[in-house]
Amino acid sequence: MRILVADDDPLTLHMVVYRLRQWGHDVMSCTDGDSAWKILEGGLVPNVAILDWMMPGLNGPELCQKIRSKKDCPYVYIVLLTGKNNPEDLIVGLDAGADDYLTKPFHLGELEARLRAGKRIVDLQNELISARETLRIQAMQDPLTQILNHGAILDALLTEINRAQRERQPLSLILADLDGFKSVNDTYGHVAGDQVLIEVARRMRNCLRSYDAIGRYGGEEFLVVLPNSDDSQALRLAERIREAICSEPFRFYHVDLTVTISQGVTTWMNPDSIPIERLIQAADRALYGVKNSGRNAVQHIQFDVHAEEPFSPMYVSPISSEA
Ligand code: GH3
Ligand code: MG
Ligand code: MG
Repeated sequence: MRILVADDDPLTLHMVVYRLRQWGHDVMSCTDGDSAWKILEGGLVPNVAILDWMMPGLNGPELCQKIRSKKDCPYVYIVLLTGKNNPEDLIVGLDAGADDYLTKPFHLGELEARLRAGKRIVDLQNELISARETLRIQAMQDPLTQILNHGAILDALLTEINRAQRERQPLSLILADLDGFKSVNDTYGHVAGDQVLIEVARRMRNCLRSYDAIGRYGGEEFLVVLPNSDDSQALRLAERIREAICSEPFRFYHVDLTVTISQGVTTWMNPDSIPIERLIQAADRALYGVKNSGRNAVQHIQFDVHAEEPFSPMYVSPISSEA
């Protein structure tokens, strides 16, 4: 474990640090409360803090209080070292947030045993944090395709709209829908359909930059958020996606399925604020245009928030005009 020891008595400090290192811990040490606090505020937060009660600067209980009032900080297991064994003082120490205490002079075996107890709490805490992180990811993820789910991709879009506005950068959006997907289900079954969705998500993700976001907007519809992308960049990317889907058949058992995708793209160059729905509506309008003109293509709508009709005429990605 990573352990901080703060004690102004050099002899105790030396002995404790020496033993802790012998037991294989990673030890940081200091001789006053203010230095201890600096360490605790730094990047390498210890798992355990062994704090003397009486020290120059912040004393043990004051440090406990400051540690416990820190938000978003991994749990620090605190052991107070005290010359006191007056129960009232111990109540003060525990109320300040200490987990345990040792009365000086203490037996090293006792310190070791108390650290084992501390390790159980620290391990439990880490398990809780990772379980919470897993839950947080699960709550954002579409279980089938492992990309963001409907709510999470809308959250990502909202975040990026705010950023684009703040940084005066363009933002593009792709709404993509598989073509004739119902017939894949009808012909090969839902299991094959599911495999196609997984593979489509994988291929699309491979086309994106690390800071783009992709989510499953609906059944066989995907929403891609492209921060810092103007119309031509977004069109190029959509074209790459289109190629990635249609150029290589999807293999399901011994059947090769050709799958195609239609995409509506919109770009917002305007620094004015816009409601998220209107941006999606523009991409949806472009997608509708592709579906009407034969599928497996890309259309783009430049979004203009000031125009009475916010959608300027569409243009079709030239490479995909064979549709
Ligand atoms: P279009 O080219 O006009 O988009 O035709 P389409 O058949 O793709 O569109 P339609 O909206 O008629 O059908 C969508 C189909 O997607 C119907 C639905 O059963 C299927 N679907 C939606 N979600 C899932 C899913 O999670 N798994 C599977 N296998 N199919 C799904
Ligand atoms: Mg479809
Ligand atoms: Mg659809």
